Amino acid sequence: MNLKNITIAGSGVLGFQIAMQAAFHGFQVIVYDINDEVLEKAKSKFKTLSESYTTDLKASPEQLENTFNHLSYTSDLALAVKDADLLIEAVPENPQIKIDFYKKLAAVAPEKTIFATNSSTLLPSQFAEATGRPEKFLALHFANEIWKHNTAEIMGHSGTDQKVFDTVVQFAKAIGMVTLPLHKEQPGYILNSLLVPLLSAATDLLVNDIADVETIDKTWMVATGAPTGPFGILDVVGITTAYNINKIAADATGDPLKIKTVKFLKENYIDQNKLGVSTGQGFYSYPDPEYLKKYFLK
Ligand code: NAD
Repeated sequence: MNLKNITIAGSGVLGFQIAMQAAFHGFQVIVYDINDEVLEKAKSKFKTLSESYTTDLKASPEQLENTFNHLSYTSDLALAVKDADLLIEAVPENPQIKIDFYKKLAAVAPEKTIFATNSSTLLPSQFAEATGRPEKFLALHFANEIWKHNTAEIMGHSGTDQKVFDTVVQFAKAIGMVTLPLHKEQPGYILNSLLVPLLSAATDLLVNDIADVETIDKTWMVATGAPTGPFGILDVVGITTAYNINKIAADATGDPLKIKTVKFLKENYIDQNKLGVSTGQGFYSYPDPEYLKKYFLK
């Protein structure tokens, strides 16, 4: 199946990036959000993103003009999806908001439209019924700064049609992604199934006073050849995300170590606005963190 018209629902951080990336690769893209005021905000992001595409992808002014011309905006859902071959949902990570959205969408979308969720932590089976077309529904998960961190994890639920799955893999390739198909549902997909335990093990070592930040990172970097250790990665991801993940685990399990980690991150980082690269200070100081210095690995 050949996809041409793409609708992106939710024009926030990820939604607008996905819209831009698809338009850059020649797809006709409609951006949908709840009202025109939010859409104006999204439109204003075109300029900043264009600068990143110019720096990181060497995009030409013609390519960017073409991208601009492939984007349109509406807060009318029926209009947004009228001719859509594929709708990518990037509305907030809240199950009720997503369910309400899929119910509204199901009532107005044409039969041909494939629905894909960009959810990071929720599973497609949670929404399959609400979509009214479970066989044409799956997850297509991108990373932040999609144009350079160009992974697309594609994950169906047990009722997803294999042809639909393959079509979405082809689409992801066509917009410049490295495609990472999963055989079945997995919370956290592949990347976070690997990353979250690593980052969590690193904070456990720190909070239990087994070793300091630099020694833990150095161990990982020297022994595996990785360019960044877990605390360097946490600074990029943002310490707020690490705090939230540990808080959810602490609240759910009452695990004393998780409770200690939450307190440690809150007092030493969150309350002091040391949130990582975004605030210039996290486990390391930016823009010139210790772990990138030559002597660090000695
Ligand atoms: P965001 O808060 O930046 O944007 C959400 C957008 O959805 C907002 O523009 C909001 O106005 C809009 N919205 C709210 N209700 C809506 C509705 N009913 N219909 C249409 N639009 C609605 O969120 P985000 O960070 O872009 O995340 C969106 C999705 O992408 C989430 O599922 C998240 O898990 C996933 N995701 C985020 C990242 C990331 O790094 N931010 C990475 C990968 C995946």
